[in-house]
Amino acid sequence: MANEFPFEISPMFEGERVRKDDMFVELAGPKSRGFELVRAAGLDEITDGNFKLIGPDISAMEEGSRHPYAMIYRVAGKLVEPDLEAIVERRNHDFQNYIQGYMHLNQRYDVWVRINKDAIKKGLKSFEQIAKATMMLFKNELPFIEKIDATYITDPEEVEKQRAEALKIYETRDARTRGLHDEDVDVFYGCTLCQSFAPTNVCVVTPDRISLCGAINWFDGRAAAKVDPEGPQFAIPKGEIIDKEGGEYSGVNEKAVALSGGEYSRIKIHSFFEYPHTSCGCFEVVGFYIPEVDGIGWVDRDYTGNAPNGLAFSTMAGQTGGGKQIIGFLGVGVNYFRSPKFIQPDGGWNRVVWMPKNLKEKIKADIPAELVDKVPTEDEVGDLKALREFLEKKQHPVMQRWIKEEVAPEAAPEATGMTQAAPAWSAPMMMPAGMPAMPQFGGGEGVKITFKNAKITIDRIVLKGKEK
Ligand code: SF4
Repeated sequence: MANEFPFEISPMFEGERVRKDDMFVELAGPKSRGFELVRAAGLDEITDGNFKLIGPDISAMEEGSRHPYAMIYRVAGKLVEPDLEAIVERRNHDFQNYIQGYMHLNQRYDVWVRINKDAIKKGLKSFEQIAKATMMLFKNELPFIEKIDATYITDPEEVEKQRAEALKIYETRDARTRGLHDEDVDVFYGCTLCQSFAPTNVCVVTPDRISLCGAINWFDGRAAAKVDPEGPQFAIPKGEIIDKEGGEYSGVNEKAVALSGGEYSRIKIHSFFEYPHTSCGCFEVVGFYIPEVDGIGWVDRDYTGNAPNGLAFSTMAGQTGGGKQIIGFLGVGVNYFRSPKFIQPDGGWNRVVWMPKNLKEKIKADIPAELVDKVPTEDEVGDLKALREFLEKKQHPVMQRWIKEEVAPEAAPEATGMTQAAPAWSAPMMMPAGMPAMPQFGGGEGVKITFKNAKITIDRIVLKGKEK
C-alpha cells in the first residue's frame, strides 16, 4: 500500500530535519498560523479515507514560500470516545515524521511543518498524498480507529476561523482536570512516546500536572491506557506517598527506574530543584533558575528574543531536553501554570520573576492577583540588572529569599556625601547542586569562565577592587 506514495514511510525518518536551504515550503510555525485537531465521530458520519483540501495545494505553492496550515481528522470506531481525541491527535506528530522529506514539529496550535525540495523532486505534489499516508498509519498503528477522514486547510481566512474553534476545544479538554487533584486519584498515567529521541524520558501525567507537550492530560492518559494498555500511555499506581509537597510517590519512582533504564530513581512531580521531572524536548515552556535574584524565569517556544539571562528559548531548550533530570531547568506544559501545586516546594508563584508578554497574557487569569504586576516581561526588563531593580521596586516576594547585608560605614562611598550606612540587598549566589552553568552575556570585560558538568556551591563571593 505504501508503494502508492512517492516517498518512503518509516520510523527511521523521525529525526529528519529540513533546514531552511533544503526547504521547498514552510507550513504554520512561528511565523505563520496553524493547528492540528482530532475529533471523535460516529461510524456512519465518516467515509473512510476521505480527504478534503481548503486552499492552495502543494503544486500551487512557490518554492521558499510560507503558508498557514491546519490538519483536522475525524475518527470513528466502537472503542473511540471523545477522551481519546488528544491521544490520537498527539500521534499525528509521530506518523507525519515517518514520511521522508516531511518535518512536523510541536503540537496543537504550535505545529510547524516543512517539506524539503527532494520530496517535491520525487513526486510529492499534493497534500492528499500526505493525508492518505498519515491516515494509513493511524489505522495501522491504532487499531481501535475503524474509520478516519481528513480535512487540510491552507486558506488563511479559513485557518483563522477554524483555529479559533480549535482553541476552544483545547481549552475545554484542559478545563476538565481543574476540579480533580492528585490526592483524588489512586492512579497516574505515564507516557514514553518521546523515548524515540529522549530515551530516558518518562512523562508522568497527573490531575495537577499536564504533560510537557501540553497535549495529554490525566483523562487522556486514562482513555489511552484503557484502549491500549500495552501502548505508550499506561497506568502508574501511585503507591505510598513519600513527599506530599514535592509530589513523590513510591509507584512513580518504581516506574521511573524501570522505564528510564535506571537513569534516575526518584521523581518529585512538582519540584523544580530536587529530583525534578525529566524533560524530553517537546515542552511548551522552559523554566530557568536565575541565581542572581534566586528566582525562576519561564520562556515559551513562541518567544524569539532573549530572556534576561541573555539566552533564547532554543539555547535553554537544548540544555533542558534529552530525558535527563537537569537541576535548574524544567520543561512544562502551559497548563501547569494553572495547577494549584505549581512548583510548590520551591515557592510556587512567589518564585516566578520573569516571563514573555504573550505567555503572561495567556495565563494572566491564573496568576495570583497580588503578583500580576510584579512579574515583568520583555517590555519592562531586558537584562539581569533591570530585573533586579524591577523586583526591588515592586517588592517582589522573592526578595524575602535575599540576604540582607549591612554595608559597613567605612565602606560607604564618600563622594556621594552619604552619612549613614545604607542597607543593601544581595541575592545568594548559591547554585543548586548539579545545576549546569550556562554562558552569561553582557557581564564583565576580558574574563571568560566556562563550567562544564560542574557541581558548584558557593556561600559567598566577595569582589574587591585591585589596589594600585
Ligand atoms: S511530551 Fe510526554 S506526554 Fe507528550 S508525547 Fe512526549 S512523552 Fe508523551
